[in-house]
Amino acid sequence: MRIEDKLYLNRYRTNEKEPHLKIIDEKVCEKCEGKPCIICCPADVYEWDGKSMEVKYEGCLECGTCRVVCPYKNIDWNYPKGNYGILYKFG
Ligand code: SF4
Ligand code: SF4
Repeated sequence: MRIEDKLYLNRYRTNEKEPHLKIIDEKVCEKCEGKPCIICCPADVYEWDGKSMEVKYEGCLECGTCRVVCPYKNIDWNYPKGNYGILYKFG
């Protein structure tokens, strides 16, 4: 089974008022070489358009990897509030 098919099995309840992860300062991302958050995120949450970072937090798997790999500690990351976030169907 492809990774995309496996991810499709997950269900999410999104808190649109209060995203659980945010970029603290996009200017810092501009100078960040390699942008490891993009490379390491298994859910393709981060997308750099050349000027700004789009954060599609709705698809986050809550693995915490981006928080660890960001060399500038530039991600404000918290677990989603109760009843929000990912629901693993088979995990
Ligand atoms: S790793 Fe951190 S500083 Fe680098 S692009 Fe991602 S969020 Fe920005
Ligand atoms: S916690 Fe994991 S899935 Fe969520 S954005 Fe960070 S690396 Fe991606």
